[in-house]
Amino acid sequence: MKQARWKCPTCGHGLLAPTRPRRNDVRRYCLPCSSKAGVLVERIAPALDAQRNRRDAQRREREKAQRERERKRKNTPRKVAARQFSKVGQYGMPIQTETARLWRMLRHMPTTYRGATTAISRSKRMPAPKVAVKDKYWSIDKDGRVLNTGRSAGLAYTWQHRIAVEPNVSWETLAHEIIHCAGYHKHDIAFYSALIWLTERRWRTTIKDRHTITAYGYHIDAMIERQIDDIVRNHFQPTPIEPTQPTTE
Ligand SMILES: [Zn+2]
Ligand SMILES: [Zn+2]
Repeated sequence: MKQARWKCPTCGHGLLAPTRPRRNDVRRYCLPCSSKAGVLVERIAPALDAQRNRRDAQRREREKAQRERERKRKNTPRKVAARQFSKVGQYGMPIQTETARLWRMLRHMPTTYRGATTAISRSKRMPAPKVAVKDKYWSIDKDGRVLNTGRSAGLAYTWQHRIAVEPNVSWETLAHEIIHCAGYHKHDIAFYSALIWLTERRWRTTIKDRHTITAYGYHIDAMIERQIDDIVRNHFQPTPIEPTQPTTE
């Protein structure tokens, strides 16, 4: 059994005893001092105390390193970028605010639109869908610039009521996925009518050339996006600070 030197803190008398003496081991206590003091005087083992202190310090050190690793793991440049891209889209669009606004707007869809009843009821009874940047299909360089985005631009998981977007999502793509979440599953005439209605209401504009549409698909998204691009850019772009002019009044 491993032995350690135990010392009485009062009289200094020491002896060898196991490093972990039993509770009732008489060597734990200095009997002469105990009988003088009237209470049990416990011996201490300085070597064991020092060892314990050393171990505590090592454990604290280890825990600190682990917390540091954890912090780094959560804050890789890509994760920092992902958090940012979940908040801000193209032209500085605040994604969450915009989603909430569009979702509320759906309550006012005219019931003459196909699917409007579903859209209205979903937007009234459900909160706005959750929007976050996609996990996959994009990466950033060491300066945090997006290198590649690919595949489909956005994805609506309607059954989970959430939307996955790629970095710098455009307003049009966000609106497109919101329309899916409102209950439009297919890219058909009803879907695009709803999307165009939302676009026109949001931007107080009219989408031109609708009469040229003969088939429904992503080219309509491109058409909408092209027509509102300037409006959206000017709306969201943070206004540059003008140099202060001396007032003449
Ligand atoms: Zn003693
Ligand atoms: Zn779609």
